[in-house]
Amino acid sequence: MTLPSDLIFSQTSLQDLVDCRRRFQLRHLEQLAWPAIESEPVLENEKRMRAGSQFHKLAHQYVLGLPVDRLTALAGEGQLADWWLAFLQSGLVDQPGQKYPERLLSCTIAGHRLVAKYDLLLKSDGDKWVIYDWKTGRYTPKRETLERRMQTIIYPLVLVEAGHVLNEGNAVLPSQIEMNYWYAEDPGTTISFPYSDEQYTRDRAYIENTIEELKLLREEDFPLTTEKRRCEYCVYRSLCGRGEAAGTGDYEEIAELLEPSEEVEIDFEQLAEVEF
Ligand code: SF4
Repeated sequence: MTLPSDLIFSQTSLQDLVDCRRRFQLRHLEQLAWPAIESEPVLENEKRMRAGSQFHKLAHQYVLGLPVDRLTALAGEGQLADWWLAFLQSGLVDQPGQKYPERLLSCTIAGHRLVAKYDLLLKSDGDKWVIYDWKTGRYTPKRETLERRMQTIIYPLVLVEAGHVLNEGNAVLPSQIEMNYWYAEDPGTTISFPYSDEQYTRDRAYIENTIEELKLLREEDFPLTTEKRRCEYCVYRSLCGRGEAAGTGDYEEIAELLEPSEEVEIDFEQLAEVEF
């Protein structure tokens, strides 16, 4: 099939592709909005999603230098305030170095744009590039689970491909990069993935092959996933005949499905800035 020339890939769309081709087709090719509730208890989840978004804004503003007292007042009380306090106490963003919060980078792979939006990119004084991603989901996934996530593959990859725009035209080498996840509900734990030349070569080939294989698919090659647990938290489940009610599974076991989905909001002005 011919993919739309303006189809932009991200960790979210590629994760959908590997999780369920049908979901990729509905969401990213047909761009079909479907008004289903993503998970239950609904109110609690919506509240968490809103708080997660506010938390990311606070973290962004802190890195930009807004007064901490003002931000702490904005955090108010309750869950968001707890996350915020844990974030400040972690000291992660107080490390010295050049900081790029909420930074979008993009590159071209297999003829298509691939984007990554970083919660924080830190170029340390020792010339190391540390990627931070703040998570506000209920549970901390297992390291092996995170290692397989598209985000863990794509974020360092895009930094190698496009990092020169932040590095005075100099390439950012895989060995300089580390990917870190920090969990607001588990603030003592930062899960780190160092990067390497070998990993970069493997990941680039994997992403390139994934997009090239997608181009070979026909309309009928987008089946429903056989892994039905994925449907429990999918907005298309009623459309797919996979049930009306949202899942009530074992949250620990499916932690990765419960992280509020983070669509990369593409800021086309910022994208234009990183054209090369
Ligand atoms: S409900 Fe299930 S089969 Fe349908 S798009 Fe979602 S994950 Fe795929």
